[in-house]
Amino acid sequence: IESKLPDVGTTIFTIMSKMAADHQAINLSQGYPGFNAPQGLLDLVTKHMNLGNNQYAPMSGIPLLRERIREKVRLETGFSYDAESEITVVSGATEAIYSAITTVIQPDDEVIVLEPAYDLYVPVIKLCGGIPVFVSLNMPDFSVDWEKVNAAVTEKTRLIMVNTPHNPGGYVWTQDDLNQLGALVESRNLLVISDEVYEHITFDGRAHLSLMTHPVLREKTFVCCSFGKTFHVTGWKVGYCLAPKELTAEFRKVHQFVTFSTPTPFQFALAEYIQDPKAYQTLSDFYQKKRDLFCQGLKSTQFEFTPAQGSFFQLVSYGHLSQEPDLELAKRMTIDYGVACIPISVFFHDKKDHHILRFCFAKSDEDLTKALNKIQSLV
Ligand code: PMP
Ligand code: GLN
Repeated sequence: IESKLPDVGTTIFTIMSKMAADHQAINLSQGYPGFNAPQGLLDLVTKHMNLGNNQYAPMSGIPLLRERIREKVRLETGFSYDAESEITVVSGATEAIYSAITTVIQPDDEVIVLEPAYDLYVPVIKLCGGIPVFVSLNMPDFSVDWEKVNAAVTEKTRLIMVNTPHNPGGYVWTQDDLNQLGALVESRNLLVISDEVYEHITFDGRAHLSLMTHPVLREKTFVCCSFGKTFHVTGWKVGYCLAPKELTAEFRKVHQFVTFSTPTPFQFALAEYIQDPKAYQTLSDFYQKKRDLFCQGLKSTQFEFTPAQGSFFQLVSYGHLSQEPDLELAKRMTIDYGVACIPISVFFHDKKDHHILRFCFAKSDEDLTKALNKIQSLV
């Protein structure tokens, strides 16, 4: 068979998590919580399974969950999407992004990808025959260089991929970023996919600014969110996509043939659970304590770092100490020091080495402390 993705191997998340398991290392690589979801949420799933809510959900999501998502979004942003025609429940943000790219991209369309970029975007763009056009984010804070973005846009640009809060960089978009993008897309035939899976994880008083809060962007954007990050249930793969009516109608044509629908008992459980805003409004505080604990410990290592603005990842750099490739260091750290992380060169198309590692701090305080002790003497 001729490969449709000749340059793609197994994802780094699978590789590093397997390596962590093989070597009994503390796994700070793949981004998932190392603790269980709230008991109240788990009980709701069994309740709905026992009530018989176990058959196919409606293609766009159960009406109650779509209505509760509408209410949640309205509470946070003051903006109301129509639950019937503008909100679609999907099988994780992965499916939302896959379906949205497939909805928009025709062969030879150009797509602006800000790098480093989450590893899902580029392969899906290529599967659709699209051409990724890479623009690097500013180092070390991963903010956006708007001059570079504007210069990269051509007649053929059809889509821009946005991710805020950013994985792996932690950067949180500002109002100026929204305004810059708004001005760029306003007079052009250009759409946006905004990956906002870390929407409830921002630090030091920063607010997440969804692209839906900007009047121009709202009309042109698929906002992709995930309950996995917000309620510590990454394995459930439930998310949602918000987009104006015409975009949603096309999006659903694809979604119905990717997964058709998303597991029913999880939808009922989440619909009940998200009624209480405290369930997600406390998440930033919860993770800020973990970020602070991790960063405090990092101070006694030789790594350099700037505390993440959002997401549950902390980057550290070591280029001042060694030129060892990050993939090699990540593997060596797993085997010799018992701590697994992600080398960030995998998030660049040319795999260029920036000598930066990504640690996930969505883990128990005990595991974070143990991991920090193990890497004190590293590099
Ligand atoms: N986007 C980003 C930036 C992510 O980090 C992840 C990983 N969890 C996803 C999308 C995928 O989300 P989901 O697990 O809901 O498919
Ligand atoms: N989003 C997670 C991360 O960045 C990984 C999800 C996955 O393994 N596909 O680590």
